[in-house]
Amino acid sequence: MWYPEEFDVIVVGGGHAGTEAALAAARMGCATLLLTHNIETLGQMSCNPSIGGIGKGHLVREVDALGGAMALATDAAGIQFRILNSSKGPAVRATRAQADRVLYKAAIRQRLENQPHLQLFQQAVDDLLLDGDGSGARVAGVVTQTGIRFRARAVVLTAGTFLDGKIHIGLDNHPGGRAGEAPAQRLSARLKELQLPQGRLKTGTPPRLDGRSIDFARCVEQPGDGMPGSDSAGRPLPVFSFMARPEMHPRQLPCWVTHTNERTHAIIRSGFDRSPMYSGQIEGVGPRYCPSVEDKVKRFADKGSHQIFLEPEGLSTHEFYPNGISTSLPFDVQLALVRSIEGLERAHILRPGYAIEYDYFDPRALRSSFETRQIGGLFFAGQINGTTGYEEAAAQGLYAGLNAGLQVRGQQPWLPGRDQAYLGVLVDDLVTQGVSEPYRMFTSRAEYRLQLREDNADLRLTAIGRELGLVDDARWSAFSRKRDALARESERLKSTWVHPRTLSAPEAERVLGKAIEREYPLFELLRRPGVGYEALLSLEGGRWRPSPAVDVTDDPRPLVSRETLGADYEAVVEQLEIAAQYAGYIERQRDEVERSAAYENLRLPADLDYHQVTALSIEVRQKLTAQRPETLGQAARISGVTPAAISLLLIHLKRSR
Ligand code: FAD
Repeated sequence: MWYPEEFDVIVVGGGHAGTEAALAAARMGCATLLLTHNIETLGQMSCNPSIGGIGKGHLVREVDALGGAMALATDAAGIQFRILNSSKGPAVRATRAQADRVLYKAAIRQRLENQPHLQLFQQAVDDLLLDGDGSGARVAGVVTQTGIRFRARAVVLTAGTFLDGKIHIGLDNHPGGRAGEAPAQRLSARLKELQLPQGRLKTGTPPRLDGRSIDFARCVEQPGDGMPGSDSAGRPLPVFSFMARPEMHPRQLPCWVTHTNERTHAIIRSGFDRSPMYSGQIEGVGPRYCPSVEDKVKRFADKGSHQIFLEPEGLSTHEFYPNGISTSLPFDVQLALVRSIEGLERAHILRPGYAIEYDYFDPRALRSSFETRQIGGLFFAGQINGTTGYEEAAAQGLYAGLNAGLQVRGQQPWLPGRDQAYLGVLVDDLVTQGVSEPYRMFTSRAEYRLQLREDNADLRLTAIGRELGLVDDARWSAFSRKRDALARESERLKSTWVHPRTLSAPEAERVLGKAIEREYPLFELLRRPGVGYEALLSLEGGRWRPSPAVDVTDDPRPLVSRETLGADYEAVVEQLEIAAQYAGYIERQRDEVERSAAYENLRLPADLDYHQVTALSIEVRQKLTAQRPETLGQAARISGVTPAAISLLLIHLKRSR
């Protein structure tokens, strides 16, 4: 049957990509349908019960700054929060949270069910409806398992690990999308028929343990930030969302640390002959940065021990996730290896570990908007683009949902730059480089990471999100208040001067480390190592007047206070301090971005005949013809396209203008 209503956007899949895609399209006012196998698994964490980490936390903050769900759901479900790299520079500091799986899913579902313009429907999608064929093909809707036909103007596919998914435990294997769930085989076959370029990847997960059978006395306790026993005990717990407060978090729990040992490694080696990875049963490439324990033992043969974090899965369960022993070895080997580990001698396995192989699509066949080049209106996001991780999936989902919505509204796609967001880095890496293994985000992938920090994701993106229709009134007014206070205080610090005459030597010594020899603006004093904003204010005491030489605010008193800003006070102070302390570096990075902007964003005509570009090598011509980069910057990042080739292209473009 034909479903009576037509939708603007249909999203297939209710994982991290699908839920953000559907919410984004609906926030923009598009009539949206989220179609998924099972409404009970909306927002399901297939693997580790944690969100964030270095690079990943940055993406979560960006999703949040654009009005997305992941950060707020984590704040509602987080049972342990930590700021990683807290002693390092602000660019690489990152938030990570353990989440209660049940609370996380509930928070996501609650948002979905209360989102205007969004409908949910439970059923597998088996087919795509297309109008036209060849280069003019356009998606027109989807067909479900029972033959219901839904019409839509755009479709976002986020099928995760489900397309022709195959689960491996030892030499046994069976079809599955993840443990206990059916794969999407018909849809996989249909996509193969459409000849979208694809391949196979694999990922794996550890066995889960019953906490009642773990001897925690033999493990080392690891409390979260702000929890008793941590270095930051008593301080407020970290939060993920710019809109969250620590009071939103449920009860906090510690994690525990133990280690593998030589005996564990010998047991693992004894199972190699029955490992699907080493017997050739698994063809897909796995994530290098999340290796299985057998892979670690093989690759780092000289290492006698590997760390394992025992992570609680939630407040209402005894289940534990042993992070570090992902495996697809046979169950008898899994049990023996687990029980060889200190504290786990009597551990009961609740669920065996396994590996899964699945179809992914070459992201180089996507436009920068994540629309497939082959079929108009069909967008891909999440694990099917060759990535791994909830955060990477969520960011892509929001992005594809947004661009599907913009297309339906007849607007140009939003394409963030590499200097603007990790999302820009992620998209650009995928569409220009493709993947040879599951792609995960790291801060090292971003060349402008000093300006792409977790702490300023809202300052980089919330105004854009508002313009695009993604940011609601509550977030916008909270953000505007914070941004305005920051701008005014920053201006005041730059225009309020301190003269040596007004500052006693002992006071200068106490706060600045030494006396000042000439007049300084407060902003410049804040740049001195070890000088914080509040210490500067204690020094200021409201005595100074704006220098007559500069354009200043009328009132020299501080505009930032706990009374006026409430919970945002700390965030504003942090921004002021970072802006002052890293001013030189940030300025240099901005100059670099400006210098490369003209070249970076120079658009390449869609019909450019690379064979007509004089002196380009055949290899470069073939690569550019196959990949059709949209800008000169993208062309430069395709492997094998040399700076010399870019110069030739530039000359060609200038001549043909
Ligand atoms: P998923 O979360 O897989 O969601 C896909 C959704 O689409 C599901 O709701 C599914 O029911 C639905 N769906 C699929 N096909 C259809 C269809 N035809 N019709 C209707 N609905 C459909 N990530 C890491 O970062 N590190 C790891 O170590 C790691 N290990 C993993 C181990 C395993 C065993 C698995 C399964 C995943 C692992 N992941 C890991 C990956 C992580 O789970 C994914 O990156 C993330 O969940 C991807 O999100 P997604 O939204 O793209 O897809």
